[in-house]
Formats: sequence, structure tokens, C-alpha cells
Amino acid sequence: MQKSVLIVGAGLGGLATALRLVKKGYKVSIIEKNSQAGGRLNQLKKDGFTFDTGPSFFSMSYEFTEFAKDCNIKLPFNYYSLDPLYTVNFRNSPVTYYLYKDLKKLAAQFSVSDPGFEKGMDRYLTKSGRLFHDTVDIVIKSNYDSILQYIITLMRVNPVHLPVMFRNFWQQVSQYFSSEEARQIVSLVAFFLGRTPFDTSGVYTLLSYTEFRHDGYFNVEGGMYKIVEGIVEELRKDKTEIIYNTEIIDFVAEGNDLKYLIDKDKRKWEADIIVINSDAAVFRGRVFRRKEFSDEKLDKKEWTMGPLTFYLGLKCKLPGIHHHNYYLGNNFKEYADKVFKHPEIMEKPYYYVNVLSSSNPGCAPEGGESIFFVCPVPDLRFKKNWDDRDEIVDSIIDDFSGRIGKNIRPEIVSRTVYTPVDWQDQFILHRGSGLGLSHKMLQIGGFRPKNFDEVFKNVFYVGASTIPGTGLPMVIISSKLAAERIEKFI
Ligand SMILES: Cc1cc2nc3c(=O)[nH]c(=O)nc-3n(C[C@H](O)[C@H](O)[C@H](O)COP(=O)(O)OP(=O)(O)OC[C@H]3O[C@@H](n4cnc5c(N)ncnc54)[C@H](O)[C@@H]3O)c2cc1C
Repeated sequence: MQKSVLIVGAGLGGLATALRLVKKGYKVSIIEKNSQAGGRLNQLKKDGFTFDTGPSFFSMSYEFTEFAKDCNIKLPFNYYSLDPLYTVNFRNSPVTYYLYKDLKKLAAQFSVSDPGFEKGMDRYLTKSGRLFHDTVDIVIKSNYDSILQYIITLMRVNPVHLPVMFRNFWQQVSQYFSSEEARQIVSLVAFFLGRTPFDTSGVYTLLSYTEFRHDGYFNVEGGMYKIVEGIVEELRKDKTEIIYNTEIIDFVAEGNDLKYLIDKDKRKWEADIIVINSDAAVFRGRVFRRKEFSDEKLDKKEWTMGPLTFYLGLKCKLPGIHHHNYYLGNNFKEYADKVFKHPEIMEKPYYYVNVLSSSNPGCAPEGGESIFFVCPVPDLRFKKNWDDRDEIVDSIIDDFSGRIGKNIRPEIVSRTVYTPVDWQDQFILHRGSGLGLSHKMLQIGGFRPKNFDEVFKNVFYVGASTIPGTGLPMVIISSKLAAERIEKFI
């Protein structure tokens, strides 16, 4: 008999799992708290502008290709490679670094500050490439039934990589580059994991290989939200229902069987199998009321940055500003030490700017630009009150204007700000942490919230908060791992 599956959450994890399962013959429905699908991979349409609100690129494009192949569909969106991958500017410096994939073009920019850059980068990428290929299939793309099984899996990794596990990202990078600027630029990718190079394991230097050598960074034609629209359309063709504006808050179980979930309006939702795409730690704590996942216990864990994001519609063009741009200060270590706990760090913030309309002109009216800022800030444990949000946003706008030599304040015709409070409330993210639990060694693999439930045998989890971790390609892998578990469930 056809098994029914109920998925809680229409983020990328929920949508991708739904499509995989529908294609295997399951009857799937999705419940979503918000009024549109996508979760953090979302879109804002306002004042004639279109903004991607979260992700602005992805790496490991082959994970999407493999996903489409697994589902026997043509990938329902088009993507293109970004080169330069991004630009970097340091405060009070006239220099903008272009992070090209071509090693010679990249190294030419460090010929004075780090003459050994080309050789160092080549050695660094060779090492991180080995690390990537020795771990991706064994560790990242595997399910674990227990911590013991995870540890046994780690023991299968070539021991040559052991020293990297005991170094942080910064220490690993510093072995290959002599200048501070080169080290800071190469280790920026640690911020993509929501932490800093000083508290991210050296193992994640494998990301440098994925960005510079293995595959690259990609944007989606028409904006990142086309990924969501494409998958939702595929689900519609397969008659999969998505029920919006429905938040699950309670449950009823019989022994080890979850009988049904209950939403805010007291409606009951049942199915043979339940898949949770809501944060795997938060859902266990708030809905299943497990003590080990209570808010107090979660507060003691290590979380990623709270994002302060804002979306500006401009009535002018910004020629020469690339798709991805990082604006850094001159106090990298001090900044990294303080960014998670000390709100005063925002007086001189580091931030990221995405010009969506530079490569997707349809996202802004003729002659205008749609731009999006992300600034890492302390989560709500360390900064609860955001009454000063407009002041902070204005200071970033002024800093950006100074750096590009054009005052954009008078050009702003649309402005929307999301603080960590908004991120928390929209997607039920613990204390507004944008990427969820950090990827420290004791919060990944067998130590991360599992993708199967400890108590209810018919409940599974998918998404960035369970294995393997955060970011769009990881979430696609997560959907594969969850679907594999569900298929084994009888
Ligand atoms: C500012 C920002 C920038 C980012 N940039 C990038 C990037 O450039 N590249 C990249 O690869 N990744 C990026 N990421 C990370 C990426 O967005 C996430 O890893 C990914 O989107 C998570 O998908 P998910 O399906 O696991 O979770 P989510 O997207 O959070 O989806 C979970 C869904 O469940 C719903 N939900 C939660 N609880 C309930 C409930 N009780 N009942 C019903 N529904 C519920 C939520 O509303 C949500 O729709 C970024 C994240 C942020 C915040």
C-alpha cells in the first residue's frame, strides 16, 4: 500500500525530500508555517524590486545535478558560474582584490604583499583537495546510527589528515601564506559557515578547494529563488500539496509511534511517516519537549552568527560593483574575537554586499539596482534589543558609500531590514542564529542532532540542522540521507 509522508517545513530540505519521495511512490504533503515556500532560501518582492533574502550563491553544483538525476527530472532552474568568485576590500585601502579561480590572475594581486602566494595557494589547494576527496564520500555523504559508528568512520579517513583536525582554519591557512591580507582573504570562507577562522576546524579548508579548484560558485538565472519555484513546480506536477500558514506546535504519540501533529489552530495532521525540516534541535525541544533540547540547554551550545540583513532598491546603477563583495576592517583578529558576543563591534562592522541585479537585470526597474547586505552580528543571547537597527544600517550604508565613492543614501527608494529577531520569528531559528548550530567537531557528524528520532521510529529530520550541515549543497545531501533512511523504514 502507498505510504503517506508528512513533511513539516517547506525549506529546501523539505522540498527536496518531498520530491525524492514522491518519485519513489510515496504520497507526500508539506506543512509550512509561512505563506511561501523556501525557508531561508527566500525572496522579497517590494517596490518593483526583487531580492534574494538569504543565500546568494551555491557551491558543489554537481549535488543539484545529481539530485535532478535521482528524481529523473531536468534540473528546474539554470545556474551560471561566478568569476571572480567575490571581491574583497579592506577599510581605508584603495585596493579591491578580485578572487579569480585562475591562479595566475589571482596571484598577480599579491605580487608585492605575498610574493610566494602562487606557490602557497597551489600547495594549499592540493592539500585541501586531498582532504575533500578523502572525506566527502566516507564522512559527509553518510548516515550514522550511533556516535560509535561515526568514530569508526572517521578512523577510515587517511591518517595523513589527522594534524589538520587539531588545527583551526586560521592555523591551517597560515602555513601556506605569509601576508596577513592573503590569510584573511583565504580564510573568509569560514564566515560562510557562520563562525570565524579562529574557531572553525582546519578540516573545513576543504571548502577552499571546492570554491577555487573543484567547482566554483554559482548563481541562478533570475535569482536564487528560482530553485524553490522550480522544485515547487515539479511537486505541483506530481500533485503534492503544500499547506501554508500552518505551524506545528504539539503532538500525540503512542509508545514509539508518533500518531499525529497538532498545529496552532488545533488541527491534527497524521501520516505513516513524518519528516521534520524545522530545526532538528529546536523542534525536539519546543514541540517534542525533550529536556536535553530545552532552550536553556541549547543556549549552552555553540551557535552561528545572527545575521543583520537589509535589502535596498536603488534608483541608480552601481557600475563596477560585482555580484559578491566583502568589506572588511583592519582589526581581523579583534573583530573575530568579539563578533559573536560584543554588540559594540558593530561600530566598525564587516559586511557583505550582493548586487543581485548586476547579473539578473530583471530584479530591478530599468536604471536601478537591487542590493542586499549581510552583516554578522551577535545572536539574541548577546544582543536582545534591536531598537538601534536603523542607526546601525545607516552607518553601514555610509561606510559602503565611502568605499565605492558614491553616496547611495539619496538613491534609496526601497528599504527592508531583517534583524536576528526577524530571522528567529520567521523561521524559528534559535536566538536568531542564521545558520544554526556551529560546525565545531562536537556538533558535526555523529554529534549533530540525528536525522532519525531517538523516540519515535516513524520520525525523521532533514536540513541544515542535522547531518551533514549548513548550506544549500549540504541540504541537498541531507535530503538524500533522509530519503535513504525512510526507504529502509518498514
Ligand atoms: C543570511 C543568510 C545567507 C545565507 N547564504 C547562503 C549562501 O549564499 N549559500 C548557501 O549555500 N547557503 C546560504 N545560507 C544557508 C542556507 O540558507 C541554509 O543552509 C538552507 O537554506 C537551510 O535550509 P533548510 O531546509 O534546512 O531550513 P529552512 O530554510 O530554515 O527551512 C525550514 C522551514 O521549516 C519551516 N518551519 C519551521 N518550524 C516549523 C513548524 N513548527 N511548523 C511548520 N513549519 C515550520 C520554516 O518556516 C522554514 O520554511 C544562508 C543563510 C542565511 C540565513
